[in-house]
Amino acid sequence: EDMSYTAINPFNGETIREFPTTSDAEVEQALEKADYFYHTAKQQPSTERAAQLEKLAQEFAAHNEKYARLLTTNMGKLITQARSEVKKNVEFAMYYVKNGPAALKPIPYNNVPEKKAHVEFSSIGAVLSVEPWNFPYTQIMRVFAPNFIIGNPVLLKHASIVPECAQAFEDACNKVGIPEGAFKNLFINYNQVNRIIADPRVQGVALTGSENAGRKIAAEAGKNLKKSTMELGGTDVCIVLNDADLKAAVDGAVSARLNNSGQVCTAAKRYIVQSGIYDDFLAGISTAFAARKLGDPLDAQTTLGPLSSKSAQKALHEQVEKVLAGGAQVLWGDTSLPQGPGALFNPLIISGMTPENPMYDTELFGPVAQIYKAETEKEILKIANNSCYGLGGAIYSQNIAHAKELASHIETGQVAINQPLTSYPELPFGGVKNSGYGRELSEMGIHEFVNAKTILN
Ligand code: NDP
Repeated sequence: EDMSYTAINPFNGETIREFPTTSDAEVEQALEKADYFYHTAKQQPSTERAAQLEKLAQEFAAHNEKYARLLTTNMGKLITQARSEVKKNVEFAMYYVKNGPAALKPIPYNNVPEKKAHVEFSSIGAVLSVEPWNFPYTQIMRVFAPNFIIGNPVLLKHASIVPECAQAFEDACNKVGIPEGAFKNLFINYNQVNRIIADPRVQGVALTGSENAGRKIAAEAGKNLKKSTMELGGTDVCIVLNDADLKAAVDGAVSARLNNSGQVCTAAKRYIVQSGIYDDFLAGISTAFAARKLGDPLDAQTTLGPLSSKSAQKALHEQVEKVLAGGAQVLWGDTSLPQGPGALFNPLIISGMTPENPMYDTELFGPVAQIYKAETEKEILKIANNSCYGLGGAIYSQNIAHAKELASHIETGQVAINQPLTSYPELPFGGVKNSGYGRELSEMGIHEFVNAKTILN
């Protein structure tokens, strides 16, 4: 199976660097080193690893610009957003530096009559991390930081279009003295991924990506009785009630759809707007979409960068054509593809999406917003929950108590009120339905790949 790990600048189409793929012998060596780390880490306290993880955080903090530029040149993220991702990478690491060891403290269970018991948490073996290109560093750190604290080695199969970012993460680990075997980036093909999942030294798989990739990897994990977490796609709603603060709703809705050129799993892909505020909201978002300046992500003036690759551009264009052929309409925007070697994509606002449209449950991964008008909250909830996905969502209303009540009825793993949904290291992140299972971040994230061992006396 041919596989190419090549960094291509999606703004100008220039090939930056092609990396040699990892041989089977190198995979075996990585597994041996991972296994060695797993056994040696068992003899050492997690606080020692916390100190090493802090050094990794400091490395990213000290060289923010260097790491940020690789994001921008490999997958087209606006340089300002790239700097923010590197900062977030530091925050994710620091959360587990400070809270990881404590989250692994044994829990006493003294609720069995005349018995004493406790549950202790220990490492289980290597975890394979399969990650997408949309947040190349933080997607790794979500898995690496908690597992490193536990003592589980992490093997990485990153998206093939961001090899420089994958390599930079590994180089950073080596530079700051993360022990050998604790983290290894592999430029491998899908067959090698499957063989790694089957290997007894590997006890878990964490994937972030599309529903399709999730089904395949989860099936391999299931076949081999390996624990897995699946952070998959979504068609998150952004609900705007009549009593919303219009400016806050427009600002939040627009950034939640256009951030990262719309390539975010928790992006606001469906605006559901109550009729009383619909016209003003639509006018507001149209103006804000029109104000976005499409262009070079390294240019500070640009406010909408390219998609991650030429093939992503082509795929989204074809999806939009199918959406329109299925009966939806363009309410605002230009459906033509910008010419040139880059992967630029004009933002669009689409209405008239119905459950009968064959594209209804498709995750549109780019600057394409869908808008729905609804009268009652019953209608709003019906549209919101009529999705195969269940990742996140947002509600805009000045009545917070009421918004919280509505949030409880939304079938997703998380809902934000009066703000775009984003991840905080302190809070669990994950979904239900076809958005996957398991939780990353917070103390829940560190308990996914552990042996919770009950000891009774
Ligand atoms: P994928 O989900 O295909 O890729 C995610 C990761 O999984 C990559 O590392 C990829 O490797 C790997 N992968 C995919 N299939 C397999 C497999 N059968 N065996 C082993 N590894 C596999 O995302 P794409 O980049 O192809 O994007 C396609 C669509 O997926 C997007 O348009 C979007 O809708 C969705 N997506 C959603 C994300 C989210 O966060 N919700 C993130 C990324 C994509 P490789 O790159 O080598 O193919």
